[in-house]
Amino acid sequence: MSLSINLRHLETRNVILHGELSLAELDLDVRDEMTCVTQPVEYDIEIEKLDAALLVQGELHVALECECVRCLKKFRRGLDFENWTLHLPLAGEDAVSIQNDCVDLTPFVREDILLGFPQHPLCKPDCAGLKPKTGRSKKIADKAGLKPSAWTELNKLKL
Ligand SMILES: [Zn+2]
Repeated sequence: MSLSINLRHLETRNVILHGELSLAELDLDVRDEMTCVTQPVEYDIEIEKLDAALLVQGELHVALECECVRCLKKFRRGLDFENWTLHLPLAGEDAVSIQNDCVDLTPFVREDILLGFPQHPLCKPDCAGLKPKTGRSKKIADKAGLKPSAWTELNKLKL
């Protein structure tokens, strides 16, 4: 089931939605292969109808599976939105699309999850990376640091 709200249900009172959004419904278009979502997204939200907008407030819990950018190890990390808030205009240029009195909240969940992906996932903050003998991490180290000869020159200047 997609995460959507029927506006008619909101006419007299707020609606509370609690459940899981399946991976198929979430349908993340992941270009960053370092991170993916492997379990349904849990949501616990309250929706209120304002004069000309919907106010959505609540929590989202996402389980991420990441690949460490330094050692390439896979690890899991939770991505939690404790105060997830959406303000969705029902009229005007930015109005959300309404179909059969329903507003689909799934695209907004999808967008925020993608924005919440770690840019450079690390299995632990001080991950040492791959052992020096393996090619990949050595190349990165060479690019990042000054070459030994440059350090030698600097030391000469100090003396
Ligand atoms: Zn690591």
